[in-house]
Amino acid sequence: MRILLSNDDGCTAPGLLALARQLRSEHHVDIVAPDRNRSAASNSLTILVPLRIQRHDDGTICVDGTPTDCVHLALASLLPEKPEMVVSGINNGPNLGDDTLYSGTVAAAMEGRHLGSAAIAVSMSAYNPKHYDTGARATLHIISELARNPFPGHTILNVNVPDVPWDELKGFEVTRLGHRRQSEPVAEALDPRGRPIYWIGPAGPGADAGPGTDFHAVEHNRVSITPLLVDLTRHSVLDKLGDWARAL
Ligand code: MN
Repeated sequence: MRILLSNDDGCTAPGLLALARQLRSEHHVDIVAPDRNRSAASNSLTILVPLRIQRHDDGTICVDGTPTDCVHLALASLLPEKPEMVVSGINNGPNLGDDTLYSGTVAAAMEGRHLGSAAIAVSMSAYNPKHYDTGARATLHIISELARNPFPGHTILNVNVPDVPWDELKGFEVTRLGHRRQSEPVAEALDPRGRPIYWIGPAGPGADAGPGTDFHAVEHNRVSITPLLVDLTRHSVLDKLGDWARAL
């Protein structure tokens, strides 16, 4: 397959390099990724200023934009041949539950949703993981299965991989997103010139994290695969809202 690989941790991030190495054993891989860490960029697109790129000797293209910019540019302009699939990652840290709203890793995959195949976002469930190779092997397995048994486009598979050696994995589980408690407090301080500064705190712990959720799967050493969709409509209250809105 022709695969476009991107991420949000930047074009020299170890997770990206580990995944590229593994995927290139069986596939053609083009890398277009941000030139620095753009974690939590979500689906932001740069429209008020132009973007610039750097082409490295190995073919990697680094963009001074967001993960979404990278995939958008790659598909619309940079790649001579259209890829069949977008893969994003491997992210340094989990993208579970509410994380998916802020994640640049998920956003990069989402920007590839119109291609023929499902798009894949991959994250390790620990920060500064020791076992990117486990995540890379798991991703190669999923892609091989998609090549044999294609899953329709317009689907984003959000994959979270436990940070354990391959032999300690307890398999793959299809999950729903869980939820986190509210994030940790904002840290407030003064800069060296006495002006106030604010630093957004880390994500809260899992709250809705029982069996069937992404949190539960990785907690039990299973690779979590959650299908995501872009449609934010709350279909379950459409009828009720219709009744309610009659009084408007
Ligand atoms: Mn990241």
